[in-house]
Amino acid sequence: MKRTPTIAIIGGAMSGLCMAAKLKAAGITTFTIYEQGSQLGGTWRDNTYPGLTCDVPSRFYQFRFAPNPDWSRWFSGGAEIWRYFDGIADRLGLREHVELNSEVVDARFEGQRWTVAFADGREIEVDFLISACGLLRVPRYPDIPGLDSFDGAAFHSARWDHEVPVAGRRVGLIGTGSTGAQIVGALGGVAGDLKMFQRTAQWVFPMYNPRFSRLTRALHRRFPKLDTLAYDACRATIDWVAMALVAPGRRRDAIQAICRRHLRKKVADPDLRVALTPGYEPMCKRIVISSDFYPAIQRDDVHLITDGIERVEPRGVRTADGTLHELDVLVLATGFDAHAYFQPMTLTGRDGLTLREAWADGPRGYMTVALPGFPNFFMLMGPHSPVGNYSLTEIAETQAGYVVQWIELWRDGRYGAAEPRQDATDRFNARLREAIPGTVWASGCNSWYLDEDGIPELWAWAPKRHRQELSAPRLHDFELEPVAVPAVAPG
Ligand code: NAP
Repeated sequence: MKRTPTIAIIGGAMSGLCMAAKLKAAGITTFTIYEQGSQLGGTWRDNTYPGLTCDVPSRFYQFRFAPNPDWSRWFSGGAEIWRYFDGIADRLGLREHVELNSEVVDARFEGQRWTVAFADGREIEVDFLISACGLLRVPRYPDIPGLDSFDGAAFHSARWDHEVPVAGRRVGLIGTGSTGAQIVGALGGVAGDLKMFQRTAQWVFPMYNPRFSRLTRALHRRFPKLDTLAYDACRATIDWVAMALVAPGRRRDAIQAICRRHLRKKVADPDLRVALTPGYEPMCKRIVISSDFYPAIQRDDVHLITDGIERVEPRGVRTADGTLHELDVLVLATGFDAHAYFQPMTLTGRDGLTLREAWADGPRGYMTVALPGFPNFFMLMGPHSPVGNYSLTEIAETQAGYVVQWIELWRDGRYGAAEPRQDATDRFNARLREAIPGTVWASGCNSWYLDEDGIPELWAWAPKRHRQELSAPRLHDFELEPVAVPAVAPG
């Protein structure tokens, strides 16, 4: 007789849905996804800015177990991706396991179970707690004097205000990351005058983004195996390319050469080219992938402003050279707090250990998925996940598959509570730190990858190694506590 676990998944976006799908595929149905929003979809629900596109190929930015034959392009737009993930809930029968508008604010581990508290005062008890809260979730607002004094409309790119017209108006955009570049590509020629305020230039890799023909889509519908083959081919290619991130060599040189050539060939004005040339190695910051950005930034109605921002005033942005750039709309494409993880939710593990205490020196975990002192708790997209330019869906599948294996062991009565050993966690983090100097992210630039110590919070090896390391639980890396009380089936 297998035991029946109760499982709370926090977050109804890509990784939470992945976790739920993997549990269901394993025959486990006693789980609930708690989603704080009123819709599923996380980042693809929240980000609706013009030009939003995923720069991972669609055939690889999907679940391998749930292919979509109908992708319209090689690289799909945000709304299409949101529809895919929202549709997964119906397609795989997960929607009945979803509780929307359910914000988890606190969770405490006692007596081999988690007590989970919600913002509305409700409490539940579960055997497993799984965080799937997403990575780029908390918008980062810039600390620019006078921002609140602006008379026009100002909003973060992840909170785009569609009530505010941009067509024909004077739009200012702060930020030159993937988001900023995509917005410039989309608003160039739409806004009356668009000013991009650049603090740091970005390397831009070209994006080839044709539509899938009707024939291709029909073939993928008729032969779903084609999608699996395409997924595997994309993964093999991106695995190969991703080696450039973690080790110097010819691959890194080749990608860097493509970026430099892209800039040289596509930007005609030598002064603009200089202004757009970063002073760090390509890929040190997450590389921008776009073929729209360079043409757009060279339009007469689009301007690159490289003078530093001094302050925001009621009429616009004042730069260090004294110029007031008058604006109607100010867009803050200033990124996310990638180190917030599931905070501000509070978490208390064994013997009253709080997450704040455990992470006093920064977020650290065991193999991206678990935390010493926090039994029967797992994370998707936890610290040091391989989130560089890789497909987060693949990472979620790997992590969710690993978590299911732990839950299966629990069902077999092999333990009542399991947590990674501190020494195993320390060994993992020490190995990571040894590998980090070889990565391009540590080659000398500022980026959202870096933690407070300036160390990239990323997987420092090939993505393939993440799959291998998480292919099966290593029991000797964990403290296993025997079953204390028989689990009670829900209902
Ligand atoms: P980001 O890469 O963190 O870029 C933020 C930008 O804002 C940077 O250019 C930064 O300048 C600038 N900035 C921040 N504070 C500023 C200030 N006070 N004054 C002037 N400039 C300031 O954010 P993002 O573009 O939103 O992208 C974040 C991540 O989201 C990406 O790296 C990617 O992982 C993901 N994303 C993915 C896609 C996709 O296609 N898959 C699309 C969009 C986003 P500095 O560089 O000088 O700090």
